[in-house]
Amino acid sequence: KRLILVGPPGSGKGTQSPIIKDDYCLCHLATGDMLRAAVAAKTPLGIKAKEAMDKGELVSDDLVVGIIDEAMKKPSCQKGFILDGFPRTVVQAQKLDEMLEKKGVKVDKVLNFAIDDAILEERITGRWIHPSTGRTYHTKFAPPKVPGVDDVTGEPLIQRKDDTAAVLKSRLEAFHKQTEPVIDYYSQRGLVANLHAEKPPKEVTTEVEKVLS
Ligand code: ADP
Ligand code: ADP
Ligand code: ADP
Repeated sequence: KRLILVGPPGSGKGTQSPIIKDDYCLCHLATGDMLRAAVAAKTPLGIKAKEAMDKGELVSDDLVVGIIDEAMKKPSCQKGFILDGFPRTVVQAQKLDEMLEKKGVKVDKVLNFAIDDAILEERITGRWIHPSTGRTYHTKFAPPKVPGVDDVTGEPLIQRKDDTAAVLKSRLEAFHKQTEPVIDYYSQRGLVANLHAEKPPKEVTTEVEKVLS
């Protein structure tokens, strides 16, 4: 399947995507994870992206489209994919259409992680991640076995620099202004499935499985 996950920061995209990936054996491309890795490695791309990310603004369309174009060439992404956090603007969605048209394939479903803004601050400020895998925890809702330590590797967890209440405000503004039109773009083609993303993780997983079955 060829899937897109869309939703505001903290809506649960990164939490559900490994489950979808394991069940449907797809490639998982998260532009946020790829950008953070580039920032940490101080690559030219990372250096260009860092300022916007720190402020909670979107990185330029050209940069992220380039990353996705390159990543989609991986052999594991030929039969299907999950795009997590891309496209985030209508321009990105149009570029993605062009890319897919060349390959003669189409997006199957867009999973919309619908949720009220008011819930997101607690989710974002309690989030801890394992940087190399993107595995996500929450101090209250999904605590690791040992605080600050990844369950699988025993490596340390980090908090993202942009996971503060102040930066969340800008990220939500960007979501409403620039990303909500992407949902309309795919709605017009009947591709959008709305999830109740405020429910507990397992219930959201059940909804995802229903949509994909
Ligand atoms: P979250 O999962 O919390 O919504 P991400 O990890 O997807 O956040 O993104 C973190 C930051 O990376 C964004 O605030 C933005 O600056 C940048 N970013 C990620 N994906 C895109 C994209 N498709 N277009 C533009 N900027 C992006
Ligand atoms: P996104 O990738 O959309 O930004 P995440 O999947 O990283 O969101 O989730 C944000 C935070 O909320 C994480 O700390 C995660 O553990 C927690 N979380 C995810 N889904 C739920 C849920 N359904 N209920 C409560 N907390 C959740
Ligand atoms: P600064 O030097 O300004 O603190 P960094 O380059 O260390 O910035 O990191 C930028 C952001 O990316 C921070 O929010 C940090 O927590 C996060 N980060 C750093 N390394 C990684 C990584 N390998 N994977 C995911 N996120 C990372």
